[in-house]
Amino acid sequence: MHIRESIYASLPIGLQHLAVTSKGIAYRRQRYGGLFSPYLAALRSSEFAPAGQLLELELAEMQRMVRFAFEHVPWYRRMARALGADWRDIRSWEDLSRLPQTTKKDVRGHSELFVADVFRSSQLIPWHTSGTTGTPLTLLYEPTAVRKLWAFVELYRLQAGVSRIERRGQFTGKVIVPPSQSPGSKIFWRYDLANRALLLSTMHLAPENLPMYAAALAQYRPEYLCGYPSAIYLLAQYYLSAGVIPPPLRAVLTSAETVLPHQRKAIEEGLGTRLYDQYGQTEMQSFWYACREGNLHVHPLAGHTEIAGEQGEPCDPGHAGSVVLTGFLNHGMPLLRYAVGDIAAWSSLAKCPCGRNMRIVARLEGRVDDFIYTQERGFQGRLDTVYKGVKNLIEAQIVQRDVDHVLVRYVPAAAFSAQDLKILEHNLRDRIGAAVGIEFQAVGLIPRSNAGKFRPVISALPELRDGCLEHAIR
Ligand SMILES: [Zn+2]
Repeated sequence: MHIRESIYASLPIGLQHLAVTSKGIAYRRQRYGGLFSPYLAALRSSEFAPAGQLLELELAEMQRMVRFAFEHVPWYRRMARALGADWRDIRSWEDLSRLPQTTKKDVRGHSELFVADVFRSSQLIPWHTSGTTGTPLTLLYEPTAVRKLWAFVELYRLQAGVSRIERRGQFTGKVIVPPSQSPGSKIFWRYDLANRALLLSTMHLAPENLPMYAAALAQYRPEYLCGYPSAIYLLAQYYLSAGVIPPPLRAVLTSAETVLPHQRKAIEEGLGTRLYDQYGQTEMQSFWYACREGNLHVHPLAGHTEIAGEQGEPCDPGHAGSVVLTGFLNHGMPLLRYAVGDIAAWSSLAKCPCGRNMRIVARLEGRVDDFIYTQERGFQGRLDTVYKGVKNLIEAQIVQRDVDHVLVRYVPAAAFSAQDLKILEHNLRDRIGAAVGIEFQAVGLIPRSNAGKFRPVISALPELRDGCLEHAIR
């Protein structure tokens, strides 16, 4: 355990609230100082600009970032030399698309080669990520990039009708409730008074604890909820099934996980408000945000988005492909054509009724890792359809450890019956075939990842996963 974590764990809960608040003060300074306000004002004034103007700005940002990377980032300096290219050769989107993609493996294996030589390490803000594959990675942010990113987040909040000033309930993956907390002490949240946030743990959402979460929210009266959709979904289901009235909310803002259709439905019904989704990455490569029409807009000033097919060709609207991003914000660790490991498709909608002229992503299909493989049926993604018609299920997770065997962990609701299990097995067989062994395991709570994320599918077949993407996007 980290020293600071062990000190935190030893504090009485009252002082833990203060420790969380003091961390909140540091975050507030890091995020909302300096450039934040003028940059947000600039974003607001260009939010509805004509498409041509946005495209021009995006192209200029791309050329500027390519120049910076070719001149100051060892990995790309080397790439430019190998290609015999100069930054002046990358003038169009087509020129950019000829650069090799940068993979997660490249960054994890050679992270020091991605750090720009204009910064001393003390000038950059480190962010430690555990990653879904478990390989730890430290990302380094330029301080102004952090403020710019939070200006995008604020733009998104504002268009959902809320802001950083309003009280919020935030489901966080951070360990705010130490493992050593007495099981009798049912306090699964901490106050960040500096940011007017009630931070709620995503790790303790067992059915028996949900009434306590609801009571804490009733007392705090947040204006909006934000965080992981899988966590907010569990709470929404509780309000629906227990007949408890949720606090009046102006919006639900979700991020970090793909929102599944059944989650969206339950959240909007159970909490009586609209859900606005957002997509970004810890690598800070792009910012997509949902408008009031429910369309996910790709902000052209945060980064350039490509959706690429099997051979790297651009995908037509409606066709799923691999998301490849060139970020414009972070000069500390720039990434060009970064294959982030997500799958998405462009919308065929030419113009959104909301008035924004930014491109629209129709579907975010989840992560490359969210697929399982069987010899009979090959690669199968979007497995949430297997829960169709299963009535009394709180949540479930499919785990594949070898090609012949799948484990389904599930949290049953009180009325869960043999019939529900039969439907689930039938649906799953439809997708993965008859030959695979399926084991069902009823549990009280599905463990979250290190970052507190819920993973609907876990594939423990890395050798297959590498080949998975090209199948997934076929
Ligand atoms: Zn829109």
